[in-house]
Amino acid sequence: MSKRLIIAIDGPSGAGKGTIARTLAGTLGYRHVDTGAMYRAIAWKTIEDGVPLDDESAVAELARRADVRIGGGIVSIDGCDVTRAIRTPEMDAAAASVARLPRVREVLVALQRRMGRNGGVVMEGRDIGTVVFPGADVKIFLDASPEERARRRASDPAHSGNRVGQAAVARAIEARDRLDTTRTVSPLVIAADAVLIDTTGIPIDRVVDKVMTLVRERIEAYRSL
Ligand code: C5P
Repeated sequence: MSKRLIIAIDGPSGAGKGTIARTLAGTLGYRHVDTGAMYRAIAWKTIEDGVPLDDESAVAELARRADVRIGGGIVSIDGCDVTRAIRTPEMDAAAASVARLPRVREVLVALQRRMGRNGGVVMEGRDIGTVVFPGADVKIFLDASPEERARRRASDPAHSGNRVGQAAVARAIEARDRLDTTRTVSPLVIAADAVLIDTTGIPIDRVVDKVMTLVRERIEAYRSL
């Protein structure tokens, strides 16, 4: 049996991470872990419980106690299905806000490492190749032009932000990029050994093919060891 890899997919929102990671996991029979959904679920619960989004100790404590589950396209926290509720403009901003808190990241990074440590996982996020699994077998950084990312996000049926129009989505994405790239802990950066793929104007299946080629090469390399 071939080695079950850890595949890290990082990049900003709207770069195509979700679609690529899901397709890749389906093709390989691996588990798909959307770490952004975990930050979103914590943000949802923080608001639900009336905890201020910048109260680091309280949010970290909430994250430590929370039972966050992701799988089969369903996201739940403490038994509550939040799959749809976490895909709103309010939750975009709230997730980026709790993701700036180092102690919250500590809790979620530990959970993500437990989820992926045995391999057979495609994990997507912002810091997978740099922090969560610096030794990941394959590291991809997906990017796309700001216009393309706004267009994709605005037409994403899972995301209720599409009601506000593309210009507002573009502004919100820009604000979130700024939060994600300027935070002191685990900012969005490209790992030195990641393969950068600009998905602007490239059909998803071509991107998937490209990543699958890298994955097969890696599996072959392990086989010949
Ligand atoms: O990927 P998604 O847009 O769902 O992520 C929501 C937010 O969660 C991001 O804007 C980012 O602030 C945070 N995030 C993170 N690290 C990850 C995944 C997401 O900081 N690995």
